[in-house]
Amino acid sequence: MKDQSFPEIRSTCPYCGVGCGVRLRADGNGGLDVRGDPDHPANFGKLCSKGSALGETVGLDGRLLSPRIHGRDASWDEALELVADRFRDTVARHGPDSVAFYVSGQLLTEDYYVANKLMKGYIGSANIDTNSRLCMASSVAGHKRAFGTDTVPGTYEDLEEADLVVLVGSNLAWCHPVLHQRILAAREARGTRLVVIDPRRTASCDGADMHLGLAAGSDAALFNGLLSAIDAAGAIDDDFSAHITGMQDAIAAAALDDDAATGLTRAQLDAFYKLWIGSRRVVTVYSQGVNQSTSGTDKVNAIVNCHLATGRIGLPGTGPFSVTGQPNAMGGREVGGLANTLACHLDLENPDHRAAVHQFWDSPVIADTPGKKAVDMFRAVGDGRIRALWIIHTNPAVTMPDADAVRDAIAGCDFVVVSDITAQTDTARLAHVLLPATAWGEKDGTVTNSDRTISRQRAALPAPGDTRPDWDIIAEIGRRMGHAAAFDYASPAEIFREYAALSGVAGALGRDFDISGKAELGDSGYKTMAPFRWPFTQGRQGGRFFADGQFYHDGGKGRMIPVRHRAPGSTPTADTPFRLNTGRIRDQWHTMTRTALSPRLSAHLAEPYLEIHPTDAARLHISPADLVHLHSPHGRAILRARLTDAVQPGDVFAPMHWTGETAPAARIDALVAPLTDPVSGQPESKASVVSVARFDPAWYGFAVSSQPLSPDSAYWARARTRTGWRAEMAGATLPQDWENYARGLFDLPQAQAQVMLDARRGRARIAFHHDGKLLAALFAGPEPVALKREFLATLPGTAAPDALTGHPPADRPDPGPLVCSCFNVGLNTILAAIEDQHLMSVEAIGTALEAGANCGSCRPELAGILASALSKEAAE
Ligand code: SF4
Repeated sequence: MKDQSFPEIRSTCPYCGVGCGVRLRADGNGGLDVRGDPDHPANFGKLCSKGSALGETVGLDGRLLSPRIHGRDASWDEALELVADRFRDTVARHGPDSVAFYVSGQLLTEDYYVANKLMKGYIGSANIDTNSRLCMASSVAGHKRAFGTDTVPGTYEDLEEADLVVLVGSNLAWCHPVLHQRILAAREARGTRLVVIDPRRTASCDGADMHLGLAAGSDAALFNGLLSAIDAAGAIDDDFSAHITGMQDAIAAAALDDDAATGLTRAQLDAFYKLWIGSRRVVTVYSQGVNQSTSGTDKVNAIVNCHLATGRIGLPGTGPFSVTGQPNAMGGREVGGLANTLACHLDLENPDHRAAVHQFWDSPVIADTPGKKAVDMFRAVGDGRIRALWIIHTNPAVTMPDADAVRDAIAGCDFVVVSDITAQTDTARLAHVLLPATAWGEKDGTVTNSDRTISRQRAALPAPGDTRPDWDIIAEIGRRMGHAAAFDYASPAEIFREYAALSGVAGALGRDFDISGKAELGDSGYKTMAPFRWPFTQGRQGGRFFADGQFYHDGGKGRMIPVRHRAPGSTPTADTPFRLNTGRIRDQWHTMTRTALSPRLSAHLAEPYLEIHPTDAARLHISPADLVHLHSPHGRAILRARLTDAVQPGDVFAPMHWTGETAPAARIDALVAPLTDPVSGQPESKASVVSVARFDPAWYGFAVSSQPLSPDSAYWARARTRTGWRAEMAGATLPQDWENYARGLFDLPQAQAQVMLDARRGRARIAFHHDGKLLAALFAGPEPVALKREFLATLPGTAAPDALTGHPPADRPDPGPLVCSCFNVGLNTILAAIEDQHLMSVEAIGTALEAGANCGSCRPELAGILASALSKEAAE
C-alpha cells in the first residue's frame, strides 16, 4: 500500500526531449513513487523504462551536499566569493572572452536565462555554450537557413496523423521510446507506413515497412535523390512554391549528386522515393544520425528542401521533425543558451536585436560577436585563451570528441568551477571549486520539449544538505560580481516572468517566440501552470508553423538551400579501416550519473560493448565475448565484442555512456575526431575512423560484491545490482597470488576466504563470507568466464554456500540477461515461456509474463527474441 499522505506532484521526466509528464509522490523515505501523467500531452500516462525507474535514482548516494574548494568542504559564502572574485579578476585582466560557461540541456529554462544574461549582458562575452551543441546544433542552423528561425514546424500529433513516418538517423525506439510507441499505436490503428533510414539495423526497425541501411553520412545524397525524383514526378507544390526562394538552385544542386553514394540499390531508392512522393502526409523525423556530422546542417536542409518543395509542412501529419536529445535542449534554444544566439529567437548578429535585449536588460554591455562553440571553447581552454571556466551539469571530460584532450585541457585550466549533483564524475574530479546543486526531483522551473510544449518541472523532495538551485547560484555570482539589481531574483517564477516579457520584445521585432501572454503570471499561476505549446496565435494550423507560407526571413519567404553530399570528415585508412558510430542504449542516460543508480536499468546492458559484423570479426579472429582494442588517431578503448549483422561490414558501433567512474578503458568519445560542421559547429560523433583488434589479456574475471569496487586492471566495467555491484575485468598480467589479489580488490583483509584454484588451467574462484553471508566473489580464468551472472548478482548478502559453482541450484532457474526492466523478466524466462507455452506473438509474451506490457521499450527486443526462437524451432 503506497503512502498517500504526501501530495502527488505533476512534473516532467528529466531525460529525453519527448518531455513526458510524470506524477511524483514522496514515499517518506527520501524516495519517490513515479507514474506517467495521464493528462500530459506528450505521453498521456506512458513512460519508458528510464522514466519508470526515476524513483530509484533520487537517493543521496554519491550526492554532493556542500561546496568544496580544492577538495575540502567550504561554506557557500567562501565558495561564491572565490568564484565571483576569480571571474571578475580574469575578465579585468584578460578581457571578457577569457572566461566561459559550458552548460547543459539538463538546465531548466530559468537557470539558462540567468546564465545567459550574466555572460552576454554583464560579463560581455558570448562564451556560453551548451552540451546541446553536441546534439542538435545542426538542426538549429538548418532551421534558421530554411525558415529564418529555429522552429520545429510540427507537433507530436503529426506523428499520429501522418500516412508515412520516416526516421532518419534516429533510433527512436531506444532514444525517444514514448514517441516510438505513439507511432506504433497509430500504425496499428490506421496503417501508418514506417521507414527507417540508418546505417545500422536498430530496435526502431522492428515493425518498419522498410529499412534503408545507407552508407554512413550519405543522407544528403539520399534526400537530394528524393528531391530530384520529386521534380521528375512533377510533385512540386506550385502554390506553396510562391512562398519559397532558392528552389531551382536547390533542385539543380540535387541533380549533381548521385544517390549511388548511399550504397543502396536502385530498387530500394525507387521504392522509397515512390512511397514518399505517393504519401500526402509525410513526417520526416531525424536526430543525432543527421545532426552529428561535418555536413549536418546540409543534411537537415536536404530533408527540409523536400518538405518545402512539396508543401508538406505545417499541415496535420506533415513536416520535417527534429527531435531533441535532452529534456530542455529546446528550452535552451528558445532562451538563447548557444554561443551564437540571443534569448527568445533573437539573433546575436542582428544589431536591432542586440540593442533590444541590451535595452531590456538595461545591462552595461551586450556581447556583439558569437562566442566559442563547444569544440572551439575547449580548444581555447587548452591553449590558455580561456582561463576561467564554469561547467554546469555536464561532463565534457567524457562526452566531448577527443575527450582525453578535453580532459587534459580542463585539468590545465587556471580556474575551473563545476556545479553538479555529484562529485563523482570525470569532470567534477578536475574542478577547483565544486558547487552542490539541487537535483531533478528537488528543482522548480520550466522545460520545453521537442514539439514546443512548455511544462513545469516541480520539486517533490526537499533540497538536501547545502544544495541550491542553479538559478540561485548563478544569480548570486551575478550579484557578487557587482550586478545586484539585475540578478535580484527571489524565485524561478520571477525569472520566468522576465523571460516572458522579453519574448514580447522579440514578438514586437517580428520573431515567432512570443510567450508574453504569461508575463503577468502570478506566483500561484506559475505554480499551477499547465503544459502549453506556443504559439498562441489563432489560425496557425493547430499550433503548427509555415503552412500559411509565412517564414521569418526578410521578405517573409522560406528558403530552399542548395546542398551537395559530402563524405564524412575522416577517411578510413589502412591503419584505421573501420567507421565508428556512437550512440545511446535503451536504459542508460548520458554518462549514467543518474540511471546507473538504478539496479534494474543497469541490468539491461551491464557492460560497454562494440557491435562488429561477423565477417569482420572472423577476419580479425574475434569471437563473441572477446575483448577488443580500438585505436584512433585521438585515443583508445577496450570493449566487449558483440558480433551482429545489425552493423554493416566496415562499420562498428559503441555506446557513449561509460566513463572513468564506470569503465575507464571504455570512454568512447576519446576516440572521436574533433571535426565539426562548418555552419553549426556540431561535432561528427558518428563517423570517426578506428582500428579494431582482439585484446588478449592474461586473464578475464567477473566479480560480485556488496560494496563498490574499482579494480586495478587493464579493463573493468562495473554496474549496480540489487545486492551491491558486479564487475567485468581483464588483466594484462597474472596476479602472483589470487587470494591476495581478491582481498585487495574487495578491500577485505580479514574476511574468511573460500578458494578454488586450478593452477594448471589458470582458473581461480574465491568467495568471502562474514557472519554467514557472502560479501564478495571473484571468478577468473584465461578466457571469458562462462557463468550465470544474473544469478550470481543476487547472492551478496545471502548465505550462498555454493556461490563458487557459479550456477544456480536446480530449483532456482536462472532468468538470464534482463530484457524487460519494468517487470524484471530475463531472456531465459522468455525463451522458456515461448517454448513451453507455444507463444507466437509479443502480445502473448506480455500476457504470459507481463514483459513488454508496461512501457513497451523492450517490445522490439521481444520481437527479435521471438523471431529467432521461432525460426530455430522451424529449422529443427
Ligand atoms: S520517453 Fe522515456 S526518457 Fe523520454 S521523457 Fe518519456 S519517460 Fe523520459
